[in-house]
Amino acid sequence: MEKGNIFLEIQKQFIEIADTLSLEPEIIRELEEPHRVVKFQTSVLMDKGNIETFTGFRSQHNNALGPYKGGIRFYQGVSEDEIKALSMLMTWKCSLAGLPFGGAKGGIIIDPYNLSKGELERLSREYVRRTLHWIGVKKDIPAPDMNTNPQIMAWMVDEFSKLKGEFSPGAFTGKPEQLWGLDGRAEATGYGGVVILERLKKISKMNPKKTTIAIQGFGNVGSNFARFAFEKGYKIVALSEAVGGVYLKEGLDPDKVLECREEHGKIAGCYCRGSVCDFGGGKEVSNEELLEMEVDVLVPAAIENVITKENAKRIKAKYIIAMANNPITEEAQEILESRKIVVVPDILANSGGVIASYFEWLQAHQGVLWKREKVFKELSNTLEKSFDKVWDLSKKKKVGLRKAAHLLAVSRVAEAIKSKK
Ligand code: GLU
Repeated sequence: MEKGNIFLEIQKQFIEIADTLSLEPEIIRELEEPHRVVKFQTSVLMDKGNIETFTGFRSQHNNALGPYKGGIRFYQGVSEDEIKALSMLMTWKCSLAGLPFGGAKGGIIIDPYNLSKGELERLSREYVRRTLHWIGVKKDIPAPDMNTNPQIMAWMVDEFSKLKGEFSPGAFTGKPEQLWGLDGRAEATGYGGVVILERLKKISKMNPKKTTIAIQGFGNVGSNFARFAFEKGYKIVALSEAVGGVYLKEGLDPDKVLECREEHGKIAGCYCRGSVCDFGGGKEVSNEELLEMEVDVLVPAAIENVITKENAKRIKAKYIIAMANNPITEEAQEILESRKIVVVPDILANSGGVIASYFEWLQAHQGVLWKREKVFKELSNTLEKSFDKVWDLSKKKKVGLRKAAHLLAVSRVAEAIKSKK
């Protein structure tokens, strides 16, 4: 689907939920658009001595529950519509997890792989200067998202602290551990997805050894999902990255595939099992083929709108765990539900990242560093509770998990708004 329509689609989804909840018109009006969208142009000195201009955004959807919260993505496909849509999804995600945060999202239209380290640093610091008035510990707390990482957060928090004249570790999350980052934050989103998988296992009595999984996307989220699922004994038969992927019937070892990619630059050909990577053993697959594979669990962990009304009817998985943001279009969702495929929605499945961000923010407030064991324990507790609430409501109301999750998320925000009137 066209990128330009993503905000309208997410907005429409909200209006349907608002109708089901019979929300008052003034609450619908407040929630159907972001509170504020900051759009800026910024010029950066490039290594060759020339100046290049980039466009960036920060969309703050709602802060009824607490400061705005959400990642910043560096990506060629960033658009105002996309950032607005994802900021609304962040409001629902934080609400569903019971966090004291609202929703935001930011981005710059850029292919970061074409920048040198110095250029990337200047661009990251520039993002902070352009959004300085609107971000902060109790205003809006950015974090990593697509193509952004702890190093970028380190530059950003440093720039913010310098401009404000005080060390402000609570203003960004996803920072390196040396800078008040959280031990476990980097793995949290993927880990959280596996907590959800384990919940599904319990409900449907899956046997991990016999459960096959295909994962689209081998970035931070996809690779950590793969590693934790592998540790629990699941059979990861297919993995892919932007340029294509691999399939191995006997199951892949994700750590080995990561190592192999380090060496060869891509995962194509990395058919790794046990301690060996046999370059002839498996089959190369495209991203499209991966989605339609004969597997038990499909994990879209890359970008938006990859499951559409065109391919939804060909999906063979019994379960989908939506680890990317909005990987399934509304029309596709209906097709999947009518085919009785269980879809765990993104605002639940990938909420491990922002839940860990909350712990990181708490750390900064408390002035105490959390232990890794505590992070994973609290993360599991929070996610299990969220999952059970969504599952129970979906059974009670006889609706899909996506609708149940949105009903819970939107009603909590609406209640908060109402209580202030
Ligand atoms: N970018 C992540 C997300 O989409 C994490 C956001 C955060 O930690 O604030 O959920």
